[in-house]
Amino acid sequence: YDANHLIHHLRASSVGRDDSVFALTPGAGTVTFGDLFDQAERIAAALVAAGLAPGDRVAAQIQKSTTALALYLGTVMAGGVFLPLNTAYTDAEMTYFLGDAQPCVLVCDPSSVMGLGDIAQTQGIRAVFTLGPDGTGTLTEASARTGSGFRPVPRGPDDLAAMLYTSGTTGRSKGAMLSHGNLVSNALALAEVWRFSQIDVLIHALPIFHTHGLFVATNVSLVSGASLVFLPAFDPDAIIAALPLATVLMGVPTFYVRLLDHPSLTGAAVAGMRLFISGSAPLLAETHARWRRATGHAILERYGMTETNMNTSNPYDGPRIAGTVGLALPGIEVRVCDPATGTPLPSGQVGSIEIRGPNVFKGYWQMPEKTAAEFRKNGFFISGDLGSLDAAGYLTIVGRSKDLIISGGYNIYPKEVEDAIDSIPGVLESAVIGLAHADLGEVVAAVVVLAKDAELTEAAIFSRLQGQLARFKQPRALWFAPSLPRNAMGKVLKNVLRDKFSEASRP
Ligand code: ATP
Repeated sequence: YDANHLIHHLRASSVGRDDSVFALTPGAGTVTFGDLFDQAERIAAALVAAGLAPGDRVAAQIQKSTTALALYLGTVMAGGVFLPLNTAYTDAEMTYFLGDAQPCVLVCDPSSVMGLGDIAQTQGIRAVFTLGPDGTGTLTEASARTGSGFRPVPRGPDDLAAMLYTSGTTGRSKGAMLSHGNLVSNALALAEVWRFSQIDVLIHALPIFHTHGLFVATNVSLVSGASLVFLPAFDPDAIIAALPLATVLMGVPTFYVRLLDHPSLTGAAVAGMRLFISGSAPLLAETHARWRRATGHAILERYGMTETNMNTSNPYDGPRIAGTVGLALPGIEVRVCDPATGTPLPSGQVGSIEIRGPNVFKGYWQMPEKTAAEFRKNGFFISGDLGSLDAAGYLTIVGRSKDLIISGGYNIYPKEVEDAIDSIPGVLESAVIGLAHADLGEVVAAVVVLAKDAELTEAAIFSRLQGQLARFKQPRALWFAPSLPRNAMGKVLKNVLRDKFSEASRP
């Protein structure tokens, strides 16, 4: 396997352990490392037989299954570029993505092959296969006809291995091109800092169309020979049941919030666990504290994005500081700069978070100008996030530059206002957005979710904030909502709120 950079590294630590369990799916049995790579080889052979050439994209809109992971590996073995697509995308969205990415092969759920087959035909896609959540479908049939023993197509660190569309929380999704070297360097760095080894068992309950579940969780496990309890989706009962089998949980903040409500979450339930990791969205300091009280464990928070995999992590041994995303990973530089000039700022000051290292992607698919605009001349990628570094190098994220509110010439970071609102007893959570304003450019508006049975009024919230926030940071408008709109990774969709409430605020 050594000619194919990514496959070589993902296979290395399970060589000679073909009979060891790679993934246990409760109720559906186990898959060994040998099974996984054998299945990947057969899929690779089927893809090549269908006309896949090195560098071609394989688009997949499929349910989570271990065969879906074999499809990822098989695509890379065949020299292709794996392009997973969110299962929630509609046919209209799929038309856009398939038209943009021009894949050679599309793999979809048997239930959607009618609609997607037609789209594939108009887009000139060569082959369409189906793959169901139980692993059956025409992809499995085609790969059963091909023999195992496929020799991976040679690919080096700079060749592309995957393309992932950004979530589009702040605008139109862009295809981020990731190389073999991007994925390998990140997987090795994370396995090192999180101390992954063959004795680890990771609870995998994340979707696999996103960088978190596909690369962080899967690649880190494979490079270190760890195994998975593979759950089709997040379900608190299933996670609680998996805890005695596992050593690590990787999740988004919503996982932890929901698990804290579970009556069976106790110190005894997590006795065999060594690590709880959170990322993809900000973890509230309160959740961090509650988890520590309930389980005795400090959640390790880390920070990454589609374009760069993971950038920072709180330390395994040193202090895990709530409200921060920790320190730059080995080999990766993280700096905070003046957004206009790109000059590094002293510690404590808020500015543009910028990243340089082997993890940083190769650019946006067919968008050379957009790509150039997001890099400094010295190679730093402008992440679009704002934050500050403390003297010890811990990074704190205050928000996205697109969410920054500029009111009357003042910069307002929504997170600061959200933190103030969230600290009011009776508030469950809040989202702060900027609304267009004729005189001030923008004004602060808040959407607040109250805790069950809380009886807070708008006036009471305004009066609490008066002593806490400067006048220009105080919300001018406030709405109560039963919940906040979130994407699959638990991120609040501020564009949805902005659209909804800019309508509502019209006179
Ligand atoms: P788009 O770029 O299209 O708007 P997106 O950025 O939401 O999509 P992702 O790449 O999934 O898509 O998300 C990365 C972003 O998630 C980061 O830039 C950061 O804003 C946020 N993020 C990730 N981890 C954390 C964290 N631990 N704390 C706070 N924010 C985080």
